[in-house]
Amino acid sequence: MSGTWFPSPADLSARDEAQAELHARANGVARARFGPRAFVRAVVEVSNFCRENCHYCGMRRDNRSLDRFRARHDELAELLIHHRPASITDINLQSGEDPLAAREVVLPLVRTLRRETNLGISVCLGTLDARLTDELRAAGASTYIVKFELAEAGRYRELEAPGSLAERTAFIRALAASGWRVSSGFIAGLPGQTIESALENLRLAADLPLIGCSVSPFVPGDETPLSASEAASLELTLNCMAALRLMRPDWVIPAVSALNLAGTGPGYARGLATGANLVTINLTPDAVRGDYLLYKRDRFIMTEERILAALAANGLTPSHQSLRDFLETPPAN
Ligand code: SF4
Repeated sequence: MSGTWFPSPADLSARDEAQAELHARANGVARARFGPRAFVRAVVEVSNFCRENCHYCGMRRDNRSLDRFRARHDELAELLIHHRPASITDINLQSGEDPLAAREVVLPLVRTLRRETNLGISVCLGTLDARLTDELRAAGASTYIVKFELAEAGRYRELEAPGSLAERTAFIRALAASGWRVSSGFIAGLPGQTIESALENLRLAADLPLIGCSVSPFVPGDETPLSASEAASLELTLNCMAALRLMRPDWVIPAVSALNLAGTGPGYARGLATGANLVTINLTPDAVRGDYLLYKRDRFIMTEERILAALAANGLTPSHQSLRDFLETPPAN
């Protein structure tokens, strides 16, 4: 099935029995490939400074009401080396597009974590120059997460997403060519988007040299130009996740915490049941977490307790093998 299956508009619009069948099929594919396990990655938000201005994000540079912070390398190192939850095997160091934080906080932190721990290390830092991404990889990070967000170039420009779509996809291809494992992602249900837009997102994901992809439901963010827009349909988001899994049985597909902000039901648990194989625990220190404003100040924080409960409710357990080790030595099946 890998590389050949592609959803129809009816798949992305599926509801009721057809939707349950789609999700069960995707879940079956994930479990056949990964067993009853999910990778557990921590995310630490390192800086909320951002030079970009994406309309769908509260950290955009024009949001003057945000208190901006850069974490300190030594504080994060102490947290991650000595106080991280036991189930974590991988870490993602994330920030707004802030080259200063990438160089002065993330780079030394990657070196320290590589020396002191066996964590798999991902970074999600926006579009940076090749010298800096090379240094991050040489320091010990192995996965670069960079979302293309949406696949329609005109709408991408209107929403002031980073650079141009062509530059973003060129950056993804350049990272992969230089030895990074690259994971990407897109937003489902941005204002004005149609089922055809969602199919375009899936086509672009399939065309890029990726090891994984996320689907985030559009959530109208506080303090953004889209704050009055309608939120994405949770059902469309889940159908896109299921479609990705059926398209790429081997990919890393996270259940994103924003699933809890979309719709009224248990979005996260349903995400885990549509073939996701990665969950994320947020370890950003409490003092600055409220200012990492991707969507709303009242964030739904995924603690270890919530993650383990959600996994258990879906018959899943945390993987003891790190995602990095898994990707380096995948099983033969
Ligand atoms: S989505 Fe990323 S690049 Fe865009 S404004 Fe937010 S933090 Fe910056």
